[in-house]
Amino acid sequence: MIPVVMPTYARADVVFERGEGPYLFDTAGRRYLDFAAGVAVTAFGHAHPHLVEALTRQANKVWHTSNLFRVAGQERLAERLTASTFADTVFFTNSGAEAWECGLKVCRKYHSATGNPQRWRVITFEQAFHGRTMTAISAARQEKLVKGFGPLVDGFDQVAFGNLNEVRNAITDETAAICVEPIQGEGGIRVGDEHFLKGLRRVCDEFGILLFLDEIQTGMGRTGKLFAHEWAGITPDVMAVAKGIGGGFPLGACLASEKAAVGMTAGTHGSTYGGNPLAMAVGDAVMDLVLAPGLLENVERMGALLHRGLEALVERRPGAYAAARGLGLIQGLKCVPANTDVVARLRDHGMLAVPAGDNVVRLLPPLIIGEEQVEEALTLLDRVAQEVTP
Ligand SMILES: *Cc1c(COP(=O)(O)O)cnc(C)c1O
Repeated sequence: MIPVVMPTYARADVVFERGEGPYLFDTAGRRYLDFAAGVAVTAFGHAHPHLVEALTRQANKVWHTSNLFRVAGQERLAERLTASTFADTVFFTNSGAEAWECGLKVCRKYHSATGNPQRWRVITFEQAFHGRTMTAISAARQEKLVKGFGPLVDGFDQVAFGNLNEVRNAITDETAAICVEPIQGEGGIRVGDEHFLKGLRRVCDEFGILLFLDEIQTGMGRTGKLFAHEWAGITPDVMAVAKGIGGGFPLGACLASEKAAVGMTAGTHGSTYGGNPLAMAVGDAVMDLVLAPGLLENVERMGALLHRGLEALVERRPGAYAAARGLGLIQGLKCVPANTDVVARLRDHGMLAVPAGDNVVRLLPPLIIGEEQVEEALTLLDRVAQEVTP
């Protein structure tokens, strides 16, 4: 008999009852060090008092009005996001896939509105992940995402991640944009280097096409900058954001420059729930925390500490771990045994992590962790390494 919850996930048999900062507690009272953070979502840990306060305060005022009216929280959060980024305008969504889809529509509409409606195709990359809508899986086109769901949505040309020559060769008179994750998350924490990202910006400028970044996983402080592209010293034209921006409340955003969003006029796009007052209250409180002095420095410092520890583990336990890669607090450990086995063993030891492509274990702790949690994680990773290497 099919489970009442559609069985699209291979779920671990554990139910969490409550959380406290970087720790979760299951229904048996067992404590877990949370280096999954709900897949880079609970960026400020669990039950952060500032977020709880913001949500409950708004819950006592108004939950939902629809976008037929002005929403003060949207205006405020959009002001703050545009003040801190390349963007001039923001569309709020409930999820990453919707933010990404909005970004795609902005890219196509831009060319249509500026007299080039023939430009509608988007260059994407192998191992990419942009969400689970039909269009997002068509863009990423990984076998495990698309199998059985065809025919796919047309309009994507895929090339190898990191390969500027292939990008150039894929550009035609129909190309509207290049869409890339600065660090491929689901793909296995593959870091796009500065040369590659700068090269993409240059190619876009040269051909008059838009650079559309998917920073759903890498954004909101995860790498030690507000957005990962800042490390490369570039700016996109359009950007999809989600995950950390809501700290656990469903929230996404599509950011765009004024130029790129030229065609997004009244009636062209919408969402019933997008930018709902509850989400805006939490998003605003998340901004307080991300922009607070010392937060990004903490991510950079803890990220470096974690990365050094992972590299030492790769040295010391070559039978368990093959490579460490990442930036800030999005780190990946390529495994020798199955990554899912390593994740399960970590969980048995009271630590949560997330599998990714390329047999990688992803470490995505909350941005507020300290040295104690980094040491704890490295100790447990070492313990698992000893178990899997006879
Ligand atoms: C998680 C993720 C998405 C999809 O977000 P949802 O909220 O699951 O729709 C898209 N792109 C990237 C890079 C992601 O990490």
